[in-house]
Amino acid sequence: MPEPSRVLSFEDARHLVEEYAAKLSPPETEIVDLLAGDRRVLATPILSDRDLPPFPRSTRDGYAVRSADLAKFPAGLDLIGEIKAGESVENIPENVGRGQAVAIMTGAPVPAGADAVVMVEYTSEQGGRVEITRSVEIGENIVPAGAEAKLGSVLVERGVRLNDAAIALAASAGKSRVELYKRPRVAVLTTGDEIVGIATVPGPTQIRNSNSYSLAVQVRNAGGEPVLLPIAPDEPRRLRGLMEEGLKSDLLLMTGGVSMGRYDLVEQVLEELKAEFFFTGAKIQPGRPVVFGRCRMAPSRETYFFGLPGNPVSTMVTFELFARPMLEALCGMSPQKLRFVYAKLKSEIRAKPGLKRFLPAILSGEFESSQVELVLWQGSGDIAATARANCYIVVPPDRELIPAGEFVPILLR
Ligand code: AMP
Ligand code: MG
Repeated sequence: MPEPSRVLSFEDARHLVEEYAAKLSPPETEIVDLLAGDRRVLATPILSDRDLPPFPRSTRDGYAVRSADLAKFPAGLDLIGEIKAGESVENIPENVGRGQAVAIMTGAPVPAGADAVVMVEYTSEQGGRVEITRSVEIGENIVPAGAEAKLGSVLVERGVRLNDAAIALAASAGKSRVELYKRPRVAVLTTGDEIVGIATVPGPTQIRNSNSYSLAVQVRNAGGEPVLLPIAPDEPRRLRGLMEEGLKSDLLLMTGGVSMGRYDLVEQVLEELKAEFFFTGAKIQPGRPVVFGRCRMAPSRETYFFGLPGNPVSTMVTFELFARPMLEALCGMSPQKLRFVYAKLKSEIRAKPGLKRFLPAILSGEFESSQVELVLWQGSGDIAATARANCYIVVPPDRELIPAGEFVPILLR
């Protein structure tokens, strides 16, 4: 059996996964339509094919002026034209001279000579003249050409998961197709003599397999393609056969069979397969017996695996904390640090010290008055309680009492 000392603090365990994740080489790529790239990982950076904005852009409806002309108020200027967004170049005055102004609309190019735009709210127009009641600073209400991005500069980096803003940037650079990393295949192997498929009527002591389903969803959300293997019994030969099958994928996730019970065989069978173990536990709850390692199936092929504890909430939590960064790296994503956000605690928490806890909780309230409180639960087997939760409260290992009103770290789900 692997040495028991491989039980790490939460932070050490997480960092170890991040270290191995950083060493992975990027996956193969494919070219897809821009919108099909939503939530997927970019393989070739997107470069700007022009300056952004391509011309000095007015951010207001108003008048393009020389700011120096506005010293005494009201100031009267001669109107020499009008520029709307998309105005053809021939209609744009070549120069705005002293004492002159041009009516201009939001999104229109500011003509040469003008160095500011006065909002229409501070003006009145009459018979070819405009009267202005306020001063403007140089550059006010104008975004200079190239201020947001320069021609040829990187708009979206390789390894970024595309979201609405990244897709909008790609669109603004005319990228109707983008090169993305292919999705890794992630084998999901559930173990346990008591576990039956969801189409089966369970016997009185049997439990339907829910972990393969939560994991499949988590894998998909992280960018992988889940491959559900048949349920493995607590019997070494069949378990080994299914593990070997799962190790053909890009990542193997197992649930159950990693605790100290007499029929928890996962580590034993992994040993038979000459697996390397990086850790065999983390000082967290739920999820303490989580296992992370690597198995060489052929001289040139190594597959990482996680043995996630079978309790459904443990499975969900340990996936998020440890398997996700590995899977994201397999998706070609640049390494991401895990970050918690803070929320105000609604009612006090008492915990036994020693383990870092990730407890299902509900973030409620509205706007700036959000608050968080633990969900009442029956422990890490309680899927119903976790389904009511929308986050986990993170309780440090040295806190026995956290009073109401304190800001506590939470992990959103
Ligand atoms: P184990 O980690 O194998 O000791 O299992 C811990 C608990 O989780 C036991 O109560 C199992 O019945 C339950 N469990 C294990 N695997 C699953 C699964 N795939 N779906 C639902 N519950 C499970
Ligand atoms: Mg079991």
